[in-house]
Amino acid sequence: MKCRQGNTIDHLRISVTQDCNLSCPYCHREGEEGDQKEMSFDEIRRIVKAATDSGMKKIKITGGEPLIRKDIVEIVKMIKKCGAEEISMTTNGTLLWKYANELKNAGLDRVNVGCDSVTSGMLQKSLQHVKKGLLAAKTAGFDPVKINMVVMKDINHHEIPAMIEVAKETGCMLQLIELIEIGQLDYEKHYFSLDGIEEELSRKAQAVNVRNMQNRKQFNLGEVTVELVRPSNMHFCAACNKMRVTSNGKLKPCFMRDDNLVEFKDINSIKKAVEAKEVYYD
Ligand code: SAM
Repeated sequence: MKCRQGNTIDHLRISVTQDCNLSCPYCHREGEEGDQKEMSFDEIRRIVKAATDSGMKKIKITGGEPLIRKDIVEIVKMIKKCGAEEISMTTNGTLLWKYANELKNAGLDRVNVGCDSVTSGMLQKSLQHVKKGLLAAKTAGFDPVKINMVVMKDINHHEIPAMIEVAKETGCMLQLIELIEIGQLDYEKHYFSLDGIEEELSRKAQAVNVRNMQNRKQFNLGEVTVELVRPSNMHFCAACNKMRVTSNGKLKPCFMRDDNLVEFKDINSIKKAVEAKEVYYD
């Protein structure tokens, strides 16, 4: 299914809960406001089936924190049965050590683990706990395991080299993500442009790969790969190939907007939501 920009929309990013066991101040909550009733297992199944039948075969599970849903392993199995070709999850990593094997056996292909700091501080998580999860994911056979680091000025921007070391040590890939202006954090104060890092990585890299997914650049540094996620980059939206689903079951064509949500009724709702996609940052 193609959007008006001509992109094939083959990725579905579905939030299975708004609840989280952390409350990171910068969290964009997948662009969701308020506290909504979360989808039942059957509602998720109906939407995922319609999406896979429409060609969206790459499914990312997000939240809130997906691993606090008690039926998360069953959800992964069900998504697989719906015909997904690739299932991935983004998690804060705190419970990953417990679930890594079960998730792999259920059909999860890839995992991204949010981890923004080696010292923790205001970012709340214990690196030791998350490291245990990263290693459990590697042992379970996930490859790549990506560490998501949202880079914030005067909070953790100085920790990029240390996070590169964590990625090397655990055999993971590091994703450096520019802060998006949603969340409780003062954006003007803490936005950190990755321009300088991109220049430095370009100088050091043995190879640079540009992904179809939002034109993200991947820098191969030999022992470790670093990927940059730059939402303010000129071509980020133009290359968008995603549809989103909110935790209460609405189709969300654009992360940045709430005024064009589409109520899910049947497979035609997917088509309507794809038609509603527009470039936000141009
Ligand atoms: N709890 C899960 C987690 O931590 O991955 C899933 C939800 S979280 C909203 C998904 C990802 O969004 C996080 O890993 C983080 O990298 C990213 N993220 C959260 N807030 C952000 C912000 N303000 N700007 C950019 N990325 C953000």
